[in-house]
Amino acid sequence: MVQPTVLQQWFMSAIDGLAPAAQREARHQLYTEVLGLQSLLEPTAADDVGVFLLAQVLAAHQLASAPVPGHRPERASGQATWYEKERRRVSKLLSQIAESPVVATFESAVTYYDAADVTCPHGHNQKTCEELYALRLTLTLLEQHQAGRLVRKQVERLRQRQPHLPILADLCTPLTPPSNEAIPAAPSEPDGPGTPRGLDDSTAYLLGTIVGRLRYVGLTVGQSCSLVDRVLSCCFGRLDPHGTRPALLAAHWRRLNQQQVGV
Ligand SMILES: [Zn+2]
Repeated sequence: MVQPTVLQQWFMSAIDGLAPAAQREARHQLYTEVLGLQSLLEPTAADDVGVFLLAQVLAAHQLASAPVPGHRPERASGQATWYEKERRRVSKLLSQIAESPVVATFESAVTYYDAADVTCPHGHNQKTCEELYALRLTLTLLEQHQAGRLVRKQVERLRQRQPHLPILADLCTPLTPPSNEAIPAAPSEPDGPGTPRGLDDSTAYLLGTIVGRLRYVGLTVGQSCSLVDRVLSCCFGRLDPHGTRPALLAAHWRRLNQQQVGV
């Protein structure tokens, strides 16, 4: 079993790679507070609130971005490993440069990592395998905490990112935080402050997953929506200069839940 602190570090680092640099300090303050929420639970509580919340923030980022090409899980045996394919891809790129009609001379000096240094036990890109672990963990947490009803559609989209996701025990557990420059930046989502009617996908997702979990911890709807508001500012760069968004989020959450009760 992976230590919660290792998972927390992994998720925070992954979020930092996607979130705007300008909000870094505010974001790290938010991380500290989010991790502090665990103290509201019984010391024997089996699950980690911080891991749950951080996982949802990363998932919302992933929902807002298109699936990354080349991050599909590798097919099993019988095919070249990810490492061999990547090596072939690089040498092809090099020869394309050398053969370009505008290139007079091209002296490429490439040194490669050994396969063992970058390949996980499953033959995947080490980092990709950790990302798969994080996604599987997020889906598992969502099942455990019944957040899926309000955000069923988004959870399904999350699941569809990797339709053949192995079980948790078969994936590589996150060890070291991913290096930030390797994570592709998500396209920024232009969004007016506190959109009233149709919430965009990532806001709806954060609302649907985080508020229910925080209420279980003992926070009010208002406090929970304030935290979602800060996540939007610190982790997505979507500032709310007028400070009206928390109330709008709370109103939206209540409306969604009334509809849910009526179903
Ligand atoms: Zn692996």
